[in-house]
Amino acid sequence: MSDHNSDTAARHRVRMQRKKAQVDAAIARADQKKGVLLVLTGHGKGKSTSAFGSVARALGHDLNVGVCQFIKARTDTGEEAFFRQHPNCDWHVLGDGFTWDTQDRTADIQSAERGWAIAEAMLADAKYDLVVLDELTYLLSLGYLRADRVLDALSERPREQHAIVTGRSAIAPLRELADTVSEIKEEKHAFHAGIQAQPGLDY
Ligand code: ATP
Ligand code: MG
Repeated sequence: MSDHNSDTAARHRVRMQRKKAQVDAAIARADQKKGVLLVLTGHGKGKSTSAFGSVARALGHDLNVGVCQFIKARTDTGEEAFFRQHPNCDWHVLGDGFTWDTQDRTADIQSAERGWAIAEAMLADAKYDLVVLDELTYLLSLGYLRADRVLDALSERPREQHAIVTGRSAIAPLRELADTVSEIKEEKHAFHAGIQAQPGLDY
């Protein structure tokens, strides 16, 4: 090895030793074990997909999972077909369709209330280790559900229970209550180039 290369290797080793000490210290500091409230928001693709990835992880650990899908009415998604078969996963499709399809605010609010009753029961039930509230943000940003009611149910859920909320434009108090918030940014989306939503990738 040339002098230059061995210098580079030695400097790399010192940098990595320092980095490892920092990472180990950060891991040692994170010593609390509790249920996490995760909010996946933003305009980019991948919020619901990410939530369903966590469902797979949870089921892989033999945890019990409850999923509530708000807004959307379709029951032909790949995620539903796959996870519904799992004995530890309860799956509810609670929407009547997109607001621009239903065009009926009163009916949308009634549907939101009915759906929320199911979600609220899951958030009060320690049997569920993970509760996914897919597209819930819209019910808050559109004022279909009272924010304090939703925030109370989330903050009073069993201590060990994880909850994941997805959807664009999460309201500020929800972001504040959450332990982890990811804002998924759109850089490009195939749909804008005329590529249709496709099974396996989009639903
Ligand atoms: P996904 O379910 O693919 O993870 P998402 O949950 O991040 O998407 P939603 O707004 O719930 O985003 O998306 C609903 C549907 O619209 C999905 O089929 C998704 O692929 C598609 N979609 C997501 N983001 C965009 C976008 N920026 N433009 C157009 N279509 C999108
Ligand atoms: Mg989604």
